[in-house]
Amino acid sequence: GNKVRLQAIKDVEAYVPPAVSFTPGEAPGEIFGENVFSTTVMQKRLPKSVYKSVLATIEGSAPLDPLVADAVASAMKDWALEKGATHYAHVFYPLTGLTAEKHDSFLDPVGDGTALAEFAGKTLVQGEPDASSFPNGGLRNTFEARGYTGWDVMSPAYVLENPNGNTLCIPTVFVSMTGEALDHKTPLLRSQSAMADHAERVLRLFGHEPSRVVSYCGPEQEYFLVDSHFFLARPDLINAGRTLFGAKPPKGQEFDDHYFGAIPERVLGFMMDTERELFKLGIPAKTRHNEVAPGQFEIAPMFERANVASDHQQLLMTTFKSVARKHGMECLFHEKPFDGVNGSGKHVNFSLGNATEGNLLLPGDTPHDNAQFLVFCAAVIRAVHKYGGLLRSSVASASNDHRLGANEAPPAIISIFLGDQLADVFDQIAKGGATRSKEKGTMMIGVDSLPDLPTDPGDRNRTSPFAFTGNRFEFRAPGSLQTVAGPMVVINTIMAEALDHIATTLETAVAAGTDFDEAVQDVLAAIIADHGAVIFNGNGYSDEWQVEAEQRGLKNLRTTVDALPELVSDDALALFETYGVFNHREMHSRYEIGLEQYVLSIGVEGRLTLEMGTTTVLPAAVRYQTELAQNVAALTAAGVEADTSLLLEVSAPVAALCSALRTLAEALDHEVDGDAMAEAVHCRDAVLPAMAAVRTSADALEGLVADDLWSLPTYQEMLYIL
Ligand code: ADP
Ligand code: MG
Repeated sequence: GNKVRLQAIKDVEAYVPPAVSFTPGEAPGEIFGENVFSTTVMQKRLPKSVYKSVLATIEGSAPLDPLVADAVASAMKDWALEKGATHYAHVFYPLTGLTAEKHDSFLDPVGDGTALAEFAGKTLVQGEPDASSFPNGGLRNTFEARGYTGWDVMSPAYVLENPNGNTLCIPTVFVSMTGEALDHKTPLLRSQSAMADHAERVLRLFGHEPSRVVSYCGPEQEYFLVDSHFFLARPDLINAGRTLFGAKPPKGQEFDDHYFGAIPERVLGFMMDTERELFKLGIPAKTRHNEVAPGQFEIAPMFERANVASDHQQLLMTTFKSVARKHGMECLFHEKPFDGVNGSGKHVNFSLGNATEGNLLLPGDTPHDNAQFLVFCAAVIRAVHKYGGLLRSSVASASNDHRLGANEAPPAIISIFLGDQLADVFDQIAKGGATRSKEKGTMMIGVDSLPDLPTDPGDRNRTSPFAFTGNRFEFRAPGSLQTVAGPMVVINTIMAEALDHIATTLETAVAAGTDFDEAVQDVLAAIIADHGAVIFNGNGYSDEWQVEAEQRGLKNLRTTVDALPELVSDDALALFETYGVFNHREMHSRYEIGLEQYVLSIGVEGRLTLEMGTTTVLPAAVRYQTELAQNVAALTAAGVEADTSLLLEVSAPVAALCSALRTLAEALDHEVDGDAMAEAVHCRDAVLPAMAAVRTSADALEGLVADDLWSLPTYQEMLYIL
């Protein structure tokens, strides 16, 4: 019965959190980056010429000169050994969305019974993990199970501390023998470089001699914390990352969480500890409480180069998991751990820029700067309109399906929020472009200045999936569990296409003798005419928007199954091939893996639902039903008129549960005739509804069955007792 549950509650109450590892008087600046092989460390430890060569690679994205690799490796090894590292690991980001590492000892036996710490340049720049267990969607032949990892020089190596010995970690790409991407980092680097090439063409048209353009990403991460005792009593949280059962708490999200005064202190201890760990790793963290749901919090680190931000984001998630365990809690990154309670997202804030021109999405002060800003904004408008379906597919997963379009996160329709002022500017341009003369209420490029655009618009539209927020765009559809690399690859690539289009149009017009400002005006007006339909400043949660979006021809890809085919549409295949980000085989493999992951995760959830429903929920309900029946029998035998209404009230959901479990078992057993898509469709259309039916009866029973028979920790307990 409820022994497990009551014991968990007792244990939580008795729990004493660990002291925060904090040295009094320590300033965050002192520990920041202390475990990172940063450019500062390199400058101190490398010969000048080697340092310059590495720096050129970091800043210009040129490949690392193999001649300097030995010197870098040797300096890195000495530094890591001083930091207590015994092993090194190539860290890579396979298509499971997780982080993988292959650890090797620094020590090489030298044959006389002793060992030497060795770390050669070729070991630094290339590793060969046996990677046959990572998903590859048919890219790796079975006879060639190896994958290759190679250091992303732009992302610094770091030492990860562990009580059992420290490890030097090297962020790497992961490719097949034939050079095809098996990971998230490879396409991210390729897409950054494609975007940069075309952004620089545009900047040259504006008269600059630009340094390398990069894309920036600032990921905001939402998460839940649950006490480990409750977590361990919930097989669904352990195995699926979300609760598959659980009635809504008697009070909703407005529940007064001051009731448990100890919560903030314990969470604060956790936050201070995570922050400290992140600082040591050079991750610029800023923590803050999120008030949306009980037990839910958010962290937003400072934005960085997209590939570094992406590595840091992955590292942040593993750090949070391990620090939470140290504090007796489990950190949940699932998009929807609790039904009926707000889910978690990972907002991807995006901008692009370089050392010479700064942020290219920052409105300028002069008409000339304005024009440049508007061109980059227009590129975003074209990109998001043309490839909205692709953006949607970049955030598609079984878990994120629970959140998108559920009136707490943006809908599955991808649109852009510009804010009133900026939308108005584009309206005026559209008019002026059409007539090529200044009329009242129109704006002329190169003549007029922009109105003051609020850098932090107070009326932020939280319902938009892609919102301009003063100096960046915020993509709000990504889920909390996902890597930011997927969305960033798409954003960079579709920006490459849009900037390529703009650069070519402007180059052609100027070559034909058109005045530059006029050419800019024309291209902006044309983009608004062709792609303005994607701009929507209204309420994205409303039903009217669903209708209007359809009239505007915007896609509404509600589920992962609807969204994934976008990856292999003719448009997408051509786009990624043109910009050298993915070849067709790579795209097909990603499509297959997307379906495979979807089917796997729903399969796990379905089997868990069946098992928990059969072995935990149903027995509790039947025992209670029996008790009630015995009570009725006893009363009747004693000659007292028995009220059977409660027995009947319990018996209805018991019968419904039994029948729902049978249906679920059939759906899970069903042999699907067809490909991965057919299996995914079966999961969506048969397994998920069957799971929902089981849950409906089970949750009804949770509200009826005697508390002492119920063993699963309740929502109330998991969400409010920390
Ligand atoms: P809010 O929570 O209101 O959206 P924050 O100040 O917390 O705003 O910022 C959210 C994220 O946006 C942070 O990670 C921040 O570093 C990032 N960000 C700020 N400016 C830029 C930019 N120019 N490019 C990319 N990300 C940015
Ligand atoms: Mg934000």
